[in-house]
Amino acid sequence: METLTPVKARVFKFGNKQADGNGTMRNLLGGKGANLAEMSAIGIPVPPGFTITTEVCTEYNDLGKETVVGYLKDEVTEAVREIEMQMGTKWGDTNNPLLLSVRSGARVSMPGMMDTVLNLGLNDEAVIGLAKKTGNERFAWDSYRRFIQMYAGVVMGMKPESKDDVDPFEEVIDNLKEKRHIELDTQFTVQDLQDLVFDFKDIINKRTGRQFPTDPWEQLWGAVTAVFDSWNGARALYYRKIHGYPADWGTAVNVQAMVFGNMGNDSATGVCFTRDAGSGENVFNGEYLINAQGEDVVAGVRTPQQITKLGSQRWAELAQVSEADRKKEYPSLEEIMPEMYQELDGYQKTLEAHYRDMQDMEFTIQKGKLWILQTRNGKRTGAAMVKIAVDLMKEGVISETEALMRMEPNKLDELLHPVFDTKTINQEDIIAQGLPASPGAATGQVVFFADEAGKYKNTILARIETSPEDLEGINIAKGILTARGGMTSHAAVVARGLGKCCVSGAGAVKIDYKNRKFEVDGRVFQEGDWISLNGSTGNIIDGKVPTKEPELSGEFGEIMALADKYRKMQVRTNADTPKDSKVARTFGAEGIGLTRTEHMFFEGDRIVAMREMILASTEKGRKKALTKLLPMQRGDFEAIFEAMEGLPVTIRLLDPPLHEFIPHQLAAQKEVADQLHISVAAVTSKVAELHEFNPMMGHRGCRLGNTYPEITEMQATAIIEAALNLKKRGVKARPEIMVPLVGTVSEFLEQKRIIQETAEQVFAKRKDRIDYSIGTMIEIPRAALIADKIAAHADFFSFGTNDLTQMTYGYSRDDAGKFLGIYQNKGLLTSDPFEILDQEGVGQLVTMGAERGRATKPNLKVGICGEHGGEPNSVAFCHRNKLNYVSCSPFRVPIARVAAAQAAIAEEQA
Ligand code: PEP
Ligand code: MG
Repeated sequence: METLTPVKARVFKFGNKQADGNGTMRNLLGGKGANLAEMSAIGIPVPPGFTITTEVCTEYNDLGKETVVGYLKDEVTEAVREIEMQMGTKWGDTNNPLLLSVRSGARVSMPGMMDTVLNLGLNDEAVIGLAKKTGNERFAWDSYRRFIQMYAGVVMGMKPESKDDVDPFEEVIDNLKEKRHIELDTQFTVQDLQDLVFDFKDIINKRTGRQFPTDPWEQLWGAVTAVFDSWNGARALYYRKIHGYPADWGTAVNVQAMVFGNMGNDSATGVCFTRDAGSGENVFNGEYLINAQGEDVVAGVRTPQQITKLGSQRWAELAQVSEADRKKEYPSLEEIMPEMYQELDGYQKTLEAHYRDMQDMEFTIQKGKLWILQTRNGKRTGAAMVKIAVDLMKEGVISETEALMRMEPNKLDELLHPVFDTKTINQEDIIAQGLPASPGAATGQVVFFADEAGKYKNTILARIETSPEDLEGINIAKGILTARGGMTSHAAVVARGLGKCCVSGAGAVKIDYKNRKFEVDGRVFQEGDWISLNGSTGNIIDGKVPTKEPELSGEFGEIMALADKYRKMQVRTNADTPKDSKVARTFGAEGIGLTRTEHMFFEGDRIVAMREMILASTEKGRKKALTKLLPMQRGDFEAIFEAMEGLPVTIRLLDPPLHEFIPHQLAAQKEVADQLHISVAAVTSKVAELHEFNPMMGHRGCRLGNTYPEITEMQATAIIEAALNLKKRGVKARPEIMVPLVGTVSEFLEQKRIIQETAEQVFAKRKDRIDYSIGTMIEIPRAALIADKIAAHADFFSFGTNDLTQMTYGYSRDDAGKFLGIYQNKGLLTSDPFEILDQEGVGQLVTMGAERGRATKPNLKVGICGEHGGEPNSVAFCHRNKLNYVSCSPFRVPIARVAAAQAAIAEEQA
């Protein structure tokens, strides 16, 4: 029997201190819906409403509009009746109309990525009723014209697609302003607004061939289904892709009674944060606008005022506004609506305590009544993430493990990069001052359009204001500059979430899109000019500014110490130079997991000797050239051992195919011939001889050391001599010699024999010894398969997951870039396997290699030194496979430390 009545609840109501759902139901109700339910239940005044679940979004995508509306009808009708009762208004009533808002809300916040429609329920009759009821005709007509504009854009497909499209509604507005010689929307008369409504409806009819819907139910279903559609819109798809959110999460739809911040000067709307989202400082802060709707604050059209007096004073100092002007023109909410402020301050404290994290809230004051529209855990910079977690821990709100689990490890990267050396900035180079919306130091060439953010290598995207369509460009640009908008503008919020430097609300910057330039007090900057942004001070600076190492805050050190307390794996670094080794050590590296010796051969004279070795046609000739390389290698190793004093240092023998060291252009080959006093023909014929069709699977790795044993002998000599030299100076070196690209036991054994014999010769000559070990990389699938046999002879394993991925997938590391992006866009791969370890496939070889190796030698030391060693998901995988250490580039060492701690905590809690 066919049933049309739903068996499961699709609609969850909230309001009047009650709720059907609760805060734990994020997956079903979306983040916003779950929080609205939770807020209502704990007594926060939220406008009553209901949430249509994320499951309905999936049903909608599978079954289509008609079926789903059929499923929803009864539940939604009942929920609307409930709102009517609570608000004392009536849906569809012309004298006392209830107006509704419809908003998206996925389980994670995706600011601005999906659609919203406000003021639903208005039509030609209801607008008159609303005007009468509120005694504010202007407000009623302004709401109506906003509604038509928004609804037509979102539901009827009339949103401009790109910067070149003219927004037909804005065009009408601009024409009317011109005709009436006015500049601001607020200067429109009631008659003007009525004319706009008439013209808007006319345009809609002409463009779409449809009448603007007057039936509130038709409006409501149109808006609900448009929100579902926006889940698969271009903006949301891109956002999901960069964050890796799956399509089947779906979005919920939140339908709520409208409350109005634009009902006059006793009304206001704003956004606030319980702590500073940029620095993490524990100060309540935010922005508001009197007589405005919420979108006005985030869209950055009017520069908003500060909520607290302290914030307002700080803002005035930056904006160079006198205290008298500040009080008169830009007073804080605390000063002009003290009672409302007190109430809001109470709620922000309640909400932060309830959610035990920094909250980002939206509120509206409608004729002296405060409503909280939403709350969510606020997006924050890396610095704020660390400080807030440490502070909350010290305040006793969260535990040590919670503080650690709150880290998004990759965000720590923001703290480690250079900052401007402000001492080197000349006062006259400071072009203008904006708001320090998102910290960081960005230098780049100016572009004015988001879709041109990739035009130069480093760009600064300068906009009057940004909108959600600009996300991709914001992500690409090095820094964002906006002329309008405050600390909570779209640009500021998105930039902070991405850890991108942003200076907002720089009012002195006059942007001219048409001529691709901006001007500040007569100084003109064209597209392509270099400027710098200091996101921590709000300075906009002419030209490039030198940078210096960041000073890591106390909280950073505290989080790192906690990570070290909980993690079980060690964290090493991949470093080829003493400088990298030192940097990594300051970031907490506990040794080197990979020194790629080949990189040392490219510098200065070394490349000449290296080429001499490669071009030599006899063993004697090669040995002669290697004698020149020996002292250079020894010197490098000494310096690295010294930087890593007392810590293990894994040095890998020469790995890449030799053709990489010889130039491929004829002119450069001639130079090589001249330098080595040989014929050009000798060089070109060697190049031809070295040519391989598959160099990645060719004559490289231990295959080199086994065909030219003298290379291994030279490298082993350099390593052992360097360690002995240091021993003499009282510095402890702990060399681990690593053989690359092993696929059979015999080729490892042959290399081991050469290394051991060489070492014994050096020891005999020097009449001294040191301890060292010999291990291998596991980076060829065959090595993982026979790991039990290799382990019988190896002191350690290190998974080279770069090559292991290459050979397991059969994707060339050097060529896969051509199709990996396309594969990801088409959904054929969820991520780049060279970036995030493929746990399902390549991971099996890691698991097997470690297990089989340890079956032979239970205490075998096992690590990883492929790029995955610093990627948080892959680090967690290594923890689960009980690896002894991960090794990664110096700047990822702190990320790996935290990721390793999180993996250990997750295991404890499972
Ligand atoms: C690897 O293959 O993972 C590795 C670390 O070595 P390389 O990247 O130098 O080939
Ligand atoms: Mg490799």
